Amino acid sequence: MNGGYSDQEAQLLAELFEKYFDFKEFDSPDIPGSGRKFMQPKSLAKYVRARHLAQIPFKVNSAYRSESHNKKVGGVLNSSHRKGFAFDTSTRGKDEKKIIKALIDAGFNRIGVYQTFIHADDDPDLPQNVAWNRFTSLNAVKNFVA
Ligand SMILES: [Zn+2]
Repeated sequence: MNGGYSDQEAQLLAELFEKYFDFKEFDSPDIPGSGRKFMQPKSLAKYVRARHLAQIPFKVNSAYRSESHNKKVGGVLNSSHRKGFAFDTSTRGKDEKKIIKALIDAGFNRIGVYQTFIHADDDPDLPQNVAWNRFTSLNAVKNFVA
């Protein structure tokens, strides 16, 4: 995972990844090994940074999704989860604001706030610098997070 980082940064991020996560956490549940194969290295690196900044455990509800799994969970057709850019992090029993701040500080500029999880992605083919929640459509991130 060396998405635009120096060798030294990439090494550190790889070590942090080992420390905090198992690749299985990023799999589509119906395809073992799909997380390692299909998640975008740059997005994973950001996610590791976010976890490191937040200093609290991240529980990954959903990352990579196969076509059939995406259908099963009601994901949109062009979901950033299908392309390996997206992470849903559980906020059950967690400090939601801390997670959101860490995701933004780590470079995610598309944030969706739901009742029990935060969606974050860096899909370059979708609108940038946006945040939304289950009640609203897209808003500018800067307006959303004070
Ligand atoms: Zn999501």
